[in-house]
Amino acid sequence: MIKNPKISKLESVLEQVKTPAYILEEAHLEENLKRLLHVKKESGAKILLALKGFALQDSFYLVREYLDGCCASGLHEARFSHEKFKKETHTYSPAFKDEDIDEILEISHHVVFNSFSQWKKFRHKALKKGVSCGLRINPEVSSSPVEMYNPSGKFSRLGITKANFEENEIDGIEGLHFHALCEQNVDALEKVLKGFEERFGEIITKMKWINFGGGHHITRDDYDIEKLISVIKEFKKRYSNVEVYLEPGEAVGWQSGTLVASVLDIVDNEMKIAIMDTSAEAHMPDTILMPYRAEIRNASLPNEKKYTYRLAGNTCLAGDVMGDYSFDEPLCVGKKIIFEDMMHYTIVKNTTFNGIKLPDIAILKKDGSYQVLKHLGYEEYERRN
Ligand SMILES: *Cc1c(COP(=O)(O)O)cnc(C)c1O
Repeated sequence: MIKNPKISKLESVLEQVKTPAYILEEAHLEENLKRLLHVKKESGAKILLALKGFALQDSFYLVREYLDGCCASGLHEARFSHEKFKKETHTYSPAFKDEDIDEILEISHHVVFNSFSQWKKFRHKALKKGVSCGLRINPEVSSSPVEMYNPSGKFSRLGITKANFEENEIDGIEGLHFHALCEQNVDALEKVLKGFEERFGEIITKMKWINFGGGHHITRDDYDIEKLISVIKEFKKRYSNVEVYLEPGEAVGWQSGTLVASVLDIVDNEMKIAIMDTSAEAHMPDTILMPYRAEIRNASLPNEKKYTYRLAGNTCLAGDVMGDYSFDEPLCVGKKIIFEDMMHYTIVKNTTFNGIKLPDIAILKKDGSYQVLKHLGYEEYERRN
């Protein structure tokens, strides 16, 4: 997964790291943000941070300098955007609740409805508040690599299909939204856009804004940024300068930090198994759900290097396993292991499963200083159970 690991200053502070800890590297985050700013400036699109993937409030001082706001998926994320990020708040939910809608309308700039029934239910309130309203469309095209992450898959509840689109009910609608990508390059966006325009081109001409959703892997080294810029510019030209929004989550946090954990014990059952003070299930759930193999600094596939271990979590779940890795030197108790690219879809998904301690959240600043931002202890478990 790590194509070109960025130069990291982490080794120089590793000794002071109390594990487990997520460590954001300020310089890496800033590099991502600079790329996103380039896309914004050259294409004229606005870019929002998708809180679903990355919501580290202590990084907002920096993210806010580059991006236009946040996209939220309900009341809590909308409040977080409003209170912590303090720029634009765009709220979409598969279904809004009566008890939440007033507050959401109060603090959101855009609200996106997932169906005509939701739009009809809330439109009077929304229009009275002066919020810019949109509809989520299912473009019915997607090349998402995994069905779990395919919003245009069979029986998807996400977005309105062409067959369900009620053209005579769009008075008051100012925008359309689609989200159909997952960790993809611009060729996938082009395919989705083509399908979207074929189905909804007529409607697009009546809109003020179109939101292209997330899943654009813009900050990955092989992402074709210049192509993205031209795709957006051409789109804006075709639709008399309609405003375009992108809302990446993963691309903001991509390779911007690590999870550092320590070996607690090494046991043997036909292979060496290192038990870590972290958990795949609780702290890096996508390694099990997606599934994918987390990269470990200075480690390789099993048997490529001299010493192979299975790395596993400190919970009682048998399947709490990060994977098998090989190292040049044997591991020992107390050895710190650096899991790469652990800032997105990790902290936002953490659980206190099995009472395991949540990792601290720390930052490695550009000047080389290391600072623990959050220490999460017993209270987290106690409060939630
Ligand atoms: C998940 C999601 C995003 C962000 O997706 P990434 O893959 O993290 O870029 C944006 N918009 C919506 C509606 C989403 O559900």
